[in-house]
Amino acid sequence: MTETRDTVILGSGCAGLTAAIYSARANLKPLVLEGHEPGGQLSITSLVENFPGWPEGIQGPELIDNMKKQAARFGADFQLAHLNRVELGTHPFRLHTSAGEIVTRTLVIASGASARWLGLPSEQALIGHGVSSCATCDGFFFRDRPIAVIGGGDSAMEEALFLTRFASKVTLLHRRPQFRASKIMLERAMAHPNIEFRTNTVVDEVLGVEEKEVKGLKLRDVVTGMTETLHVDGMFLGIGHEPNAKMFAGQIDLDDEGYVLTQGNIFTTRHGVVVPGVYACGDVQDRRYRQAITAAGTGCMAALEAEKYLEEHGR
Ligand code: NAP
Repeated sequence: MTETRDTVILGSGCAGLTAAIYSARANLKPLVLEGHEPGGQLSITSLVENFPGWPEGIQGPELIDNMKKQAARFGADFQLAHLNRVELGTHPFRLHTSAGEIVTRTLVIASGASARWLGLPSEQALIGHGVSSCATCDGFFFRDRPIAVIGGGDSAMEEALFLTRFASKVTLLHRRPQFRASKIMLERAMAHPNIEFRTNTVVDEVLGVEEKEVKGLKLRDVVTGMTETLHVDGMFLGIGHEPNAKMFAGQIDLDDEGYVLTQGNIFTTRHGVVVPGVYACGDVQDRRYRQAITAAGTGCMAALEAEKYLEEHGR
């Protein structure tokens, strides 16, 4: 018979690992399913300088590795598996994973959100070497250097404006003439003297794969078909994020963009009514802040609620 777990944590980024530390210290022996991208977004970041407690900063993968060791020290189990399907209609909950079926009394959803990428091989090869999807994390490394931001929504405008604090020049590249960004954000970005807008423009290749650092972008005008090289030292993607929550559709409420809808940042609902024993934390339910520290905070909250639920309903 399948063993019933007290707590299963879905995802091994900052939110999931913080939940694991708290659950493990509460003696719940949580099982962490590490998911498609073990370590989450921090594991593809370079220096993290805004996580409290690290005055000199810490490399994202090292921070994640430390959290994992910390959770393991208190007895968390880890499994390299991802969730295919879930049954939350009956209790205990049934999880159908790539490593078989798991039954659990509480579930902490910390499956995160994945940045959208262009999907070019050269882009993928240079992630962390001048290609980034997080201006807050990596903008600092581009002091007095030219960079490009891709996208035409609020994220791209926000990134472009933020990056003007560091970059010598920001070129915003958008594939269409119209923008999705809100009027106010667009006007602010357009009014900035250090942001140049290029519309109808796509990136065909990121240059610098051999040198292991971004040397420029090969651009194409989608109207004229003309190509040219733009000299930049960095490329920031601002083309949106995708929450990793598709497998929960129909089981808990998701918003119109697929993020888990929560009450009080962690309580999941079905048709607006709280689902007892199922909590969500981190970027899978946060489209606004998306910071390591906020993910850690909600991870802690979710674990404490799971513990409280088990105390009240028996283990
Ligand atoms: P978004 O509104 O969906 O915009 C994504 C942009 O990226 C679009 O311009 C899209 O182009 C472009 N794009 C998507 N895939 C692309 C590809 N493969 N190649 C090139 N371009 C591509 O996403 P978002 O900007 O992340 O915003 C998401 C939500 O968060 C929005 O509701 C937004 O208002 C909100 N948000 C608010 C703030 C704020 O208020 N401060 C900040 C950030 C985000 P097309 O237009 O051609 O499709």
